[in-house]
Amino acid sequence: MDREQERPAPSSPAAGSALCEGVAAERRGGAGLAALPCAMRHLPYFCRGEVVKGFGRGSKELGIPTANFSEQVVESFPPDISTGIYYGWACVGNGDVHKMVLSIGWNPFYRNTKKSVETHIIHTFKEDFYGEILSIVIVGYIRPEKNFDSLEALISAIQEDIEEAKRQLDLAEHLKLKEDNFFHLPEGK
Ligand code: ADP
Ligand code: MG
Repeated sequence: MDREQERPAPSSPAAGSALCEGVAAERRGGAGLAALPCAMRHLPYFCRGEVVKGFGRGSKELGIPTANFSEQVVESFPPDISTGIYYGWACVGNGDVHKMVLSIGWNPFYRNTKKSVETHIIHTFKEDFYGEILSIVIVGYIRPEKNFDSLEALISAIQEDIEEAKRQLDLAEHLKLKEDNFFHLPEGK
């Protein structure tokens, strides 16, 4: 189970650049990948990039702020990765690693022709961290994107996603990714 040590150590990208890689293919030996749903095939998925301003959809007002990756980072994702809600680990700059839920969705700003990737870190931060480098590992898939009839229904679905993420990430197989070397940026980054 120590296959991840074979994964090449990621270099440290400059602010604004993206570093993303999926290791699922190597880990599963490449066999039978085509049969896996696109949500799972690329997991775990490591990604690092700058936090940019989103589109003012008011997630912070809902109590669920989402740190948005730049278009450049989103475009480095595998094109066939499923939209929907995922869970994993996240770290801002050199800070602590926290649980997160992540949405890969169609971006209304671009008339739904481009994806957006937004991370809600399950932690209370003292202040915003626009411009900082966010490192994430996407560990598992929760559900596809959905439309909700009301804001209340949306918020309660997200709260359920958060509870599911917390439960899943406490499993030993997922906890070990929290300690991954990927989260230890070299000094000065
Ligand atoms: P935007 O539309 O600019 O993405 P949001 O309302 O989604 O605005 O708020 C996102 C911003 O809130 C992040 O970029 C970050 O600076 C800040 N933030 C504070 N706490 C969190 C958190 N727990 N998870 C994600 N972002 C957070
Ligand atoms: Mg956001």
